[in-house]
Amino acid sequence: MSTIFEKIISKEIPAEILYEDENTLAFLDANPCSEGHTLVIPKKAVSNLIEADEETVSNLFKTVKRVTKTLAESDLDPVGFSIGINHGEEAGQSINHLHVHIIPRYKGDGDGTIRSMHSIVSNPPTNDLNTVFNKIIK
Ligand code: 5GP
Repeated sequence: MSTIFEKIISKEIPAEILYEDENTLAFLDANPCSEGHTLVIPKKAVSNLIEADEETVSNLFKTVKRVTKTLAESDLDPVGFSIGINHGEEAGQSINHLHVHIIPRYKGDGDGTIRSMHSIVSNPPTNDLNTVFNKIIK
């Protein structure tokens, strides 16, 4: 598996790198949803959270926390963040290398509507919660 993110890790293609350590890299998204939209990736080439080993996940989220703090304390002055992963093609994952989006939020950026995670999908279950629970926990 080789993606454009491997080329960013190896510096073959440039990026605005906000943070780097042995295991992770954080850089500005080339097509930002908001000012400061950042991607955090593990250097290990894994497709998604399920494929990643515990240490990779742990290192990844330590960097997510660190970079969120950096953005929060920056002159961008965001009022919140949407932080998430597009896991799988159907969920919008376009690059097959695990990455966490940190999207700074600014006052009124939802056009008067609160644009939270809840507005990504509107596909409520027809089954009751107990049926859903039993499908998950067998
Ligand atoms: P996905 O849709 O897979 O969750 O997110 C992939 C993200 O990578 C997109 O938001 C896209 O803008 C970003 N991206 C794609 N190619 C590049 C690139 O070459 N450089 C940077 N900095 N971001 C990229």
